[in-house]
Amino acid sequence: MMVHAIVGRGFSGNIFLVDAEKPCLIDTGWSPSIAYSARTMNECLNGRTLSSIILTHRHIDHVGGALAFMERFGGEILAHEIDAPPLIDGDQESTGAVMFGGELFPMPVRKLVGGEDIDLGGGEALRVIHTPGHTSGSMCLLGQGCLFSGDTVFADGGVGRWDLETGNYEELVASAEKLADMEFENLYPGHGPSVIGPAKEHVEMSLRHLKMIGRFG
Ligand SMILES: [Zn+2]
Repeated sequence: MMVHAIVGRGFSGNIFLVDAEKPCLIDTGWSPSIAYSARTMNECLNGRTLSSIILTHRHIDHVGGALAFMERFGGEILAHEIDAPPLIDGDQESTGAVMFGGELFPMPVRKLVGGEDIDLGGGEALRVIHTPGHTSGSMCLLGQGCLFSGDTVFADGGVGRWDLETGNYEELVASAEKLADMEFENLYPGHGPSVIGPAKEHVEMSLRHLKMIGRFG
């Protein structure tokens, strides 16, 4: 699976362009990165359109570019059914737009529940994994040895915040446990560096950190 990482600038989350037969985007970053990201996507896609724009969760630093990219590059916007309504409604509070000082434009979203496979063509697919904790409708994507982890876990044992609206510590621990049980090689988180190579130990470290916080926090 060919993955182009467009590293988030400022508050903007990372964007991953999965260059499959049916290209898809995982997260979209946010202004002021949109113009820069669009240039990179333009070069990678080289005239092709996106099949889907998958959003790992509702926060504006991940979804703020979705509408602009859909209009420019095509693709259906997909999100978990719990995090989809604030995106469809343009809920400024729940998407963190108010907190970040931005504005979220309502967008059309097809709802996912977790467990489904998103077909990328050529025998490749991404499995949707519901991983609540950072938000109640957070999800990760797993396919061809790659885990796209949104804001659930990060490289080097990092973990997502659970103190924002709909965040939940116990759910985050359970989600990290679920991920630590899965098989993958590479980790592509929503912020910070990706891990190319044996990435499982990074997620196991995230789980240990979370449990430690529970004991002493
Ligand atoms: Zn987030």
